[in-house]
Amino acid sequence: MLERTTESGLHETEGESAADPTAARLAALGVALDPEIDYRLSTVFPKLEGWGVKGAIKRKAKLIKQIEPHLKEMLHPGEEVLFVSKGVQYSFAEQYFMGLWAATINQTVFVLTNLRLLMLRTRSNGRPKETFWTLYYNQIQKFKGGWTGMLELKLRDGRKLKFSGFPKLDRKTMPQVFEQTLEGYRTQGFDPQVSQSLENLCSGCFTVVPKQQFDCEDCGVSFWRPRDVALRSLFIPSWGDIVMKHYTIAVVELIGAAIAWFIAFSMIFKFVRNGDPVALIVAAVVLFFTHVVDAMVTYHVAGKGLHPRSRRASDA
Ligand SMILES: [Zn+2]
Repeated sequence: MLERTTESGLHETEGESAADPTAARLAALGVALDPEIDYRLSTVFPKLEGWGVKGAIKRKAKLIKQIEPHLKEMLHPGEEVLFVSKGVQYSFAEQYFMGLWAATINQTVFVLTNLRLLMLRTRSNGRPKETFWTLYYNQIQKFKGGWTGMLELKLRDGRKLKFSGFPKLDRKTMPQVFEQTLEGYRTQGFDPQVSQSLENLCSGCFTVVPKQQFDCEDCGVSFWRPRDVALRSLFIPSWGDIVMKHYTIAVVELIGAAIAWFIAFSMIFKFVRNGDPVALIVAAVVLFFTHVVDAMVTYHVAGKGLHPRSRRASDA
C-alpha cells in the first residue's frame, strides 16, 4: 500500500513530446525501445552528441533490448526506468581463487528506476541468467564511485558490494541518478520494509524471496541452499558450479581437480611402495585444498543470490 502511493508520488510526469531531443536522436539511429516500458530517456541516454557517443547509445540500446522481456515482468505499475548499465561484481575471494574466470559469473546489469535499483546477473553479452536482486535506495548507506572506476556500495545491513567495469560515460552519470532518487526518498519519508538490504528476487515471478528462504511462496520455484551446493563441491569439485550453471568455471575447476587427483594418487602410490610419510602428507594437503577450498568458495558464491533448482510449478 505504502509502496503504491509513494510510487506514484515519486513518479514525475515529464511529458515526453515529439520534440524530445533524445527520442529524436534514438529514432535517427534506428533505436526502438519497448513502448510498454516507461523510460526516462533524458537520463537513460544523458549524452547525445560527442565523440564515440553514437556507439555508446547503440551499445546501451542493445543491452536494454536484451533485458526488456524480463524488465516488463519486473517493473511495477508506475515504475519508470532512469538508467541502465552493466558492470562486474568484484569479490576478493573469487578473484583470488578463480582469477580472471571470476568475471564470467559476476556480470551484472544495473537498472535504476524511480523506486529501486534492480540487478540482473547476465552473461558477458548482457543476456540475463537466473539470478536477480532488488535494492531500495535508502538501503544504501554509502555510495562511492572511485577514480579507478570501482563502484562501492555500503548497505544498511552491513553488506558491502563492489563493482567495476562500467562504461566510462556511465560512471559519471550513474551517481547523479542515485543521488537524485535518494533525495526523493528523503522528502517523501519513504522507508519500505525489507528482510535484508539487498533482497533476492524469484527467477519465476520476480517477487521478493526473503532472507534465508529458498522457496517462492508466490509461484513455487525452489532455489538451491548454499549448504547443499557447497556439499556437492566438497564431494566433487565443480559439481556445485554445475548446479548453479556456471559451466565455464566448472570446466576450469574440473581440470584443476583432475591434476590435483593425479598428484595425490601418485603420492599415495609412492607411500604404499616405500612408506614415505611425507608423500602421504602431500596427498592429504592437495586433496584438502582441492575439495575443502572449492566447497568454501562455492558456498560464498551460492550465498550471493538465488539459483533455481526447479521451475515454476505451473510450468512443470
Ligand atoms: Zn516466484
